[in-house]
Amino acid sequence: MSEWVQELLREDLRGLSAYGAPQLDVPVRLNTNENSYPLPDEVVRAVSRAITGEIADLNRYPDRDAVKLRADLAAYCGHGLTAEQLWAANGSNEVQQQLFQAFAGPGRTALGFGPAYSMHPLLAVGTATTWVDGRRDGDFGLTVEHAVAQVRAHRPALTLLCSPNNPTGTALDFAVIEAVLAETAGLVVVDEAYAEFRRPGTPSALELLDRHPRLVVSRTMSKAFAFAGARVGYLAAHPAVIEAVQLVRLPYHLSALTQAAARAALAHADVLLGTVEAIKAQRDRIVADLRAGGWTVADSDANFVLFGRFADQKAAWQTLLDQGVLVRDVGLPGWLRVTAGTEEETSAFLAAMKELAA
Ligand code: PMP
Repeated sequence: MSEWVQELLREDLRGLSAYGAPQLDVPVRLNTNENSYPLPDEVVRAVSRAITGEIADLNRYPDRDAVKLRADLAAYCGHGLTAEQLWAANGSNEVQQQLFQAFAGPGRTALGFGPAYSMHPLLAVGTATTWVDGRRDGDFGLTVEHAVAQVRAHRPALTLLCSPNNPTGTALDFAVIEAVLAETAGLVVVDEAYAEFRRPGTPSALELLDRHPRLVVSRTMSKAFAFAGARVGYLAAHPAVIEAVQLVRLPYHLSALTQAAARAALAHADVLLGTVEAIKAQRDRIVADLRAGGWTVADSDANFVLFGRFADQKAAWQTLLDQGVLVRDVGLPGWLRVTAGTEEETSAFLAAMKELAA
């Protein structure tokens, strides 16, 4: 970046580089936990119709409060939730940014437990919030004792819990969420971007909402819904939290086209979510196959798998890329992360791994 821009820039942003996984044009892209399946024709037609129906009215601003979309999201979430308890924005990244803007910011602390979603500390940077990384244990687990001790030590305004956690795939026990809620005076955000891929027996924090007004559950249509390109994320929380978020949202932040597309996709939730079981099967195949090959693999409740341990994960990443398979180096020494894609993509990845082992 030019020196003169560095001088104009906020001091705390100087020298930083922009977040982003490489977007490379290679045959097998398994680096951003997208859903590898294109939208089925039936959904393509429904979304097209919905968008077409909005075009003549694009002279007007969209519904600022996205009320119909929020009602549809509430119906999808279940648990008796209503539109007043849902909020939507351009991806769960924006939803979470709004939470930082409203509840954190200068002079306040946000606490997370790394390795976790790398945007969380960056949202802290963007909103001039003090970030504390409470660290997970060596197996990427998070105990009640450790989580509570971190909350007690740092008194965060915002605590971010990610379940299933990215990049490790680890789901959280309710005991941890409830213990953190009991200890903190602040807001607790459970980032459930990968909720639909949970293994049987792992509940969603949505179940806890009616008992905990300071709990926020963040979700997205980017993963299980195969809708990453549309940019639709949402949160479920107490209506008062949503009123607070509306203080910082930009007016008309969610375009009429996005709202219409998301509603059409939600009307076809059963079809879109039809790929989830196939993706989970490929995830379990990756875990089993890599373990059989002698690799260390973290248990996963998500649509991706963290695996290692490499003496040099950067070199391993490059070797896989040279074979046309793009995975993610999340900056965790010794580890790489791969998204569970189609059966063919998984086969290509596993074959490339055999080359690496050989
Ligand atoms: N949370 C987690 C844990 C994620 O991994 C991601 C996407 N990588 C997001 C939130 C953001 O997704 P989106 O903005 O597409 O909803």
